[in-house]
Amino acid sequence: MKFTKKQIDRYSRQIILKKVGVIGQKKLLKASVLIVGAGGLGSPIAIYLAALGIGKIGIVDKDNIEISNLSRQIIFSTDDLKKKKSSTAINKLRKINPDIKLLSFNKKLTKKNINQIAKNFNLIVDGSDNFRTRFLINDYCLKYKKILVSGAISKFDGQVYTFNFSKKNSPCLRCFITHVPVNLDIDNCEYEGVLGTVGGIIGSIQANEVAKEILGIGDTLCGYILIIDALKLTFRKVKLNKRSDCYCNEKK
Ligand SMILES: [Zn+2]
Repeated sequence: MKFTKKQIDRYSRQIILKKVGVIGQKKLLKASVLIVGAGGLGSPIAIYLAALGIGKIGIVDKDNIEISNLSRQIIFSTDDLKKKKSSTAINKLRKINPDIKLLSFNKKLTKKNINQIAKNFNLIVDGSDNFRTRFLINDYCLKYKKILVSGAISKFDGQVYTFNFSKKNSPCLRCFITHVPVNLDIDNCEYEGVLGTVGGIIGSIQANEVAKEILGIGDTLCGYILIIDALKLTFRKVKLNKRSDCYCNEKK
């Protein structure tokens, strides 16, 4: 792959970084990332990943844009109301960076379609808003040994965790969420509320972790959960242990 003059200009501030360079930028351009959910997390994730020059980005979301989304879903504007989230987000990304491949999936991610949608992506970023989808993505990435960068937000709090299932001792979501909520489809943002900026903080950290995983630089968050309290402005990194009786052990 040879850079065009435009690409060198566009990515010059990254290429100049010793830890990125031409080789790193090529890694980003060769990478493929699927973003699940074009919401409060998916918005900053998608904007940053497109701007960074991730070569192929897919967005899965079945919803249409509602006015209550706009306080945190910053990829959308007021004149986007009622439009499909995934294709509208993809159109915005095309304006940010026409240099990359963009794919929109206007559907709900299910057990039946996840392989078909996710098979052509190396890395999955979870910005979904319910446990049913979170577990579905966890189990899929575990099965196919993919990297999963997950985030969650509620009220003034957020969490980020990364699982690299190609590594032997990676814990999974089921290792630490032992008390599964009765209603798997409940959306916490809808019932408990969320401050829009918390999505920006968590989503930006997720995008940063995706870049690090692709570039192979820095300390991976794999095996840890980052817990953020945006009111006290505290960041805690807690080690996650693989639970010996968890389902992920049987899969290895
Ligand atoms: Zn597990």
